[in-house]
Amino acid sequence: MEIKPVQAKTLLATHTKPDSWFGCKYNMNLYRGCQHKCIYCDTRSECYQIENFEKEILYKENAIELLKDELPRKRVKGTICFGSMNDEYMPIEKDLRLTRQALEVIVQHRFPVHMMTKSDLILRDLDLLKKISSIYVAATFTITASDDELSKKVEPGAPPSSARFEAIKKLSDQGIYTGITMMPILPFIEDTDENITSLIEKAHESGAKYILAWFGLTMRDRQRTHFYKKLDELFPGMKTKYRKAFGENYECNSTRIAELQSLFESLCLKYGIETKMKFYEPEKPAKQLDLLQS
Ligand code: SF4
Repeated sequence: MEIKPVQAKTLLATHTKPDSWFGCKYNMNLYRGCQHKCIYCDTRSECYQIENFEKEILYKENAIELLKDELPRKRVKGTICFGSMNDEYMPIEKDLRLTRQALEVIVQHRFPVHMMTKSDLILRDLDLLKKISSIYVAATFTITASDDELSKKVEPGAPPSSARFEAIKKLSDQGIYTGITMMPILPFIEDTDENITSLIEKAHESGAKYILAWFGLTMRDRQRTHFYKKLDELFPGMKTKYRKAFGENYECNSTRIAELQSLFESLCLKYGIETKMKFYEPEKPAKQLDLLQS
């Protein structure tokens, strides 16, 4: 895989209001492409215009300069999310350290952050996350398969699920607000009671505070083509099942979605795990507080 530098024009994308799943006000992509190579990754879709997803990773050489310039000019304090179309802790981050440098800038400017990753490399930056946690930090790990062998099949470039659970435990023990996104859950492969129960039990044992779940996946254009190619290699016969169940649908819910949702809710209730995450709440300006109190 080729690793190439690029010069970006801007870095921080702004949402008019924070999104309802993850609470992101700003999004930051330090990389283009992803070494984790999840077989279901939607970033392969044509709308993202990443032509060589399987062959090259681009890193934004001037990202930290841009962040130093853009962040102090943001008037609204809102959560900065990492890793929407790549994983900010993919293996090349070990050498390039762009994520770490970005966190150093964020520490200085006291912005809240939400890290979303599949990698235990996040532990390297625990010192910075602890500093930011006085404002707000959330660390969310995507985990879709309880079994390491299955996670290695569907997310071949990422650390196995067990390493992710261990990282959750370490972060959680250090007081970092940590949870899981359990999505996508691949129909006919991961949508079993055993997998979902085991994921929730391990989340509980690791100290995860929340789980965001959706039992299905999306498929479109060249992402669907790639996913089906991988199904043929890894799960012979599965493609036929998918074609029959979903045709050309974009949203492909598990055929067991209602049962799984009910199982998920009852287990989360049992273990005291939230099914929505808490977002950053800006401090109320002193003037407003005065008015409310008068
Ligand atoms: S970690 Fe995320 S961005 Fe990277 S390949 Fe997997 S799904 Fe795609």
